[in-house]
Amino acid sequence: MKRLPKPENASQTVMRRRVEEVTDVFEREQGRLRWDGEKDPLDGLVMTLLSHNTNDRNRDIAYAALMARYTSWEKVHHADFEELAGVIRPAGLNRQKAERIQALLAYLRETFGEYTANFLREMEFDEAMETLGHLKGVSFKTMSVVMCFDLGRDVFPVDTHVHRICRRIGFVPDKYDAVKTFKAMRPLVPEGKSYQLHLHLINHGRQICDARKPKCNRCLIYHLCRYGRYESGMEGPGSLKETGGQA
Ligand code: SF4
Repeated sequence: MKRLPKPENASQTVMRRRVEEVTDVFEREQGRLRWDGEKDPLDGLVMTLLSHNTNDRNRDIAYAALMARYTSWEKVHHADFEELAGVIRPAGLNRQKAERIQALLAYLRETFGEYTANFLREMEFDEAMETLGHLKGVSFKTMSVVMCFDLGRDVFPVDTHVHRICRRIGFVPDKYDAVKTFKAMRPLVPEGKSYQLHLHLINHGRQICDARKPKCNRCLIYHLCRYGRYESGMEGPGSLKETGGQA
């Protein structure tokens, strides 16, 4: 990605307004999204562990194979390691993922006496990270995906697309990693919009704000984007007005 100039020193209020404006543009253009309901958070954790460094299709194939081969989490926990790694091979990094899944199940069994992550339903994000964040693979992204998608919490997951777009727009500095971006975005995303904005940004990242060659000339939020304005020469960086982003 091309190195960007330093982001403008906008106050958090201005930045929050800008995030709100981007949220509104996408809602108008892509529609309002409804969360599809609560799911088992342990399923969500395993699905998310399987999804690392692969696409949704391969993750789903691996998860379906796992469900078909083993009838309980206990059986997955005690499965022969090589066999388990073979079952989830379609997800890639299968040995690492098998190890992480079995470590997660072992921890749940030892700590809570059963194979469940239902305790997450009662926890706030930070407490959930304190409880499971020491396990390999249970990153901020993993936990935020489970909290947001499986439990309907207002937590904004930062995946590759979201991370890239947040930096390009200028919501966070270019040098921020995904964890810093996640923390910085928490107070900026409008209340109740985490799920929708996350999905809208992923869609935007896939269709318009491509990693290698963003199609800025077709972008609906061009006027709000630091990268778009910088690339176009329309305005220098740091000039977004205190108007909530109207360039
Ligand atoms: S203007 Fe370009 S860089 Fe900015 S969000 Fe749109 S496509 Fe991405």
